[in-house]
Amino acid sequence: DNFDQTKIPQATAKRLPLYYRFLESLQASGKHRVSSSELSEAVKVDSATIRRDFSYFGALGKKGYGYNVNYLLTFFRKTLDQDEVTRVTLVGVGNLGTAFLNYNFTKSNNTIIEMAFDVDESKVGQNIGNVPIYHLNDFKEKIDSQVEVAILTVPAHAAQGIADDIVEAGIKGILNFTPARLSVPDDVRVHHIDLSVELQSLIYFLKHYPL
Ligand code: ATP
Repeated sequence: DNFDQTKIPQATAKRLPLYYRFLESLQASGKHRVSSSELSEAVKVDSATIRRDFSYFGALGKKGYGYNVNYLLTFFRKTLDQDEVTRVTLVGVGNLGTAFLNYNFTKSNNTIIEMAFDVDESKVGQNIGNVPIYHLNDFKEKIDSQVEVAILTVPAHAAQGIADDIVEAGIKGILNFTPARLSVPDDVRVHHIDLSVELQSLIYFLKHYPL
């Protein structure tokens, strides 16, 4: 607790989940320590970078010993919020939204989609993957201040209006799966995942930059 999380560089923060997954599998197999070269090989990050990353949170490997797996895991859990459940809502229970509700991220993360919204009367009142679906009109009433993230899987034309509702409800993170570019205040973070753009870009790279 005696370090400032905001001082971890973003590039380091992005690698933490990689380290975390590997360390978890080490712990599960009963290993108590790991060297930076072992880690390096497993996560494909060079060992100098790993040592620098770890030094930000005071984990200094001992020569001939390496790093203590349990210590690192305890740290990562705190930093990655793996100890806390992040509550998520989803708007738009179409094909993609339905897939997310059934999947619900429970296996890989401490995140839970706890309610979903739609305007289609045939969907409102149903449960999918144990997640209740409510009418969008009841959004404000149902959402409380503990919901941190909204997943947006509505048609593009509906996206901005719903984003405004999401912002008004105090939600600070939006995972936007629609092609629409959203305008939100500076304190709201939007991550945009446009699947058709991602696919086109992969195809472009395959054609023009063969490995
Ligand atoms: P489906 O085949 O179930 O319609 P889809 O993913 O092909 O799924 P979309 O047109 O992308 O269909 O709509 C996704 C979901 O968003 C649908 O369930 C639709 O009812 C819902 N939806 C449409 N407009 C709104 C809106 N303004 N607010 C909330 N949900 C909406």
